[in-house]
Amino acid sequence: MKGQPGPGRGKQQKDTTGPQTVVVVDDSSTMRTVIQKELEAAGFDVVAFNDGLEALSSLRWMQRLPDLILLDIDMPRMDGFACCEQLRAMEAQGLFEEAEEARIPVLFVSANDTFDNRSRGFHLGSLEFISKPFARGDIAAAVSKVLRPQTTFAGMVALVIDDERSLRRMVRTCLEQIGLRVLEAEDGRQAFELIKEGRAEVDLAIVDFDMPVMRGDEFIHLTRQCPETGHLPMISLSAAGAPQTILRMFRAGATDYLVKPFIAEELLARVQVHLNLRRYMCHLEEMNRNLYDKAVNDALTGLRNKRYFQEAFEELFARAQRSQGDLSCLFFDLDHFKRVNDTCGHGFGDYVLKTIGALVKANVRRGDLAARFGGEEFVIALPNTGLAPARFVAEKIRTLVETHRFRDQGRQWAVTVSVGVASLHGHRPASATTLLQLADQALYLAKGAGRNRVVCCPD
Ligand code: GH3
Ligand code: MG
Ligand code: MG
Repeated sequence: MKGQPGPGRGKQQKDTTGPQTVVVVDDSSTMRTVIQKELEAAGFDVVAFNDGLEALSSLRWMQRLPDLILLDIDMPRMDGFACCEQLRAMEAQGLFEEAEEARIPVLFVSANDTFDNRSRGFHLGSLEFISKPFARGDIAAAVSKVLRPQTTFAGMVALVIDDERSLRRMVRTCLEQIGLRVLEAEDGRQAFELIKEGRAEVDLAIVDFDMPVMRGDEFIHLTRQCPETGHLPMISLSAAGAPQTILRMFRAGATDYLVKPFIAEELLARVQVHLNLRRYMCHLEEMNRNLYDKAVNDALTGLRNKRYFQEAFEELFARAQRSQGDLSCLFFDLDHFKRVNDTCGHGFGDYVLKTIGALVKANVRRGDLAARFGGEEFVIALPNTGLAPARFVAEKIRTLVETHRFRDQGRQWAVTVSVGVASLHGHRPASATTLLQLADQALYLAKGAGRNRVVCCPD
């Protein structure tokens, strides 16, 4: 609904077609250029001013009001706060005729990122504060967050479960405004079928209490039991004057609730809280996975590292003893690798190690455990494998390495390995460490016997 311009008031209207316009106010021409380029690349029109006074006087005469203003704080003549105060006063006097949105959104961009400045900005109605120096993409992201809410949660999915079609429609319309993809279900059972066993990936569920076939609390309870959906945010819907319902939904595992009838703004506010939290959790989980990868894998070859191998090998040893199965261990080391490094350089040496890692990976079974034990030493644990088949695997790896041609920048190189083999049934070691030592001793014998060979630990 557009307001009618009153007598003597400005006539600016917000144009809802075409690109959105951002006014940039900064006394540094370099800064203006950087911000302008970034925003234009993101599809915004930009009008830049080098101080607040100039920007304010231009606003009165602009054909179209800007959709947003980016304000530097420290500027000569008039600082960003004074400029924003004046803008708010002009809006209050009705100088701009914008009935739908009384205020032009303002974002502050400043090197002076203090609590006081953030607080002053907030009281002037600015919800974003961009700290200088900012990273590439920060400005466009902050502006888009305000002006294009439909991109805020793009790629995330909400599931709306309610037997009332009109309510599902209303919720869908709201959620699509902030970029969510929406799935619908008429009752708990239908919803559970949709998401069980990770069939559909969902980031949030909105669940009515009273539904036929399967009630909301039952759905929530079921969903909480499954590993894929155990942490799914779920907002329950209940009728007014039914506090017991809210409690039942919370007991079943709901994260939040809304009482019907609710307003769209409250629905969106709650949904955004949960989705922001979910995004943060996903980010933490990913960082956790990356850290775990780094902690257990060797960066060069992608094989397991020594620490992981030692722990897992203890476990394999204990399991073999319990089940009276066999367990073999191969220990191998590159022959005269120092010469390869000295002749071809360390980079080429790294490439050889990496290639041998790939050869090993491609030639062991799924239950086997291969690791880079140190510089140019590798180990492979072979569960349920006796000495004779282990020797066969060792011989296969030795031959694979011997026949492989390592090529780099026109160079060709052949490399060999020496392998020591030991097994649980063959040598009856008392511990995993001893089994590993036996394989290492056999490797030492292989080196002594002339290298490029497999030696089994003598009885
Ligand atoms: P041997 O046949 O007796 O094992 O001789 P060698 O030269 O392989 O053994 P030595 O222990 O004397 O040298 C090991 C070499 O492996 C020296 C070291 O520079 C190299 N090396 C260890 N780790 C790495 C690595 O991560 N990258 C590269 N390029 N070389 C490594
Ligand atoms: Mg060596
Ligand atoms: Mg060595």
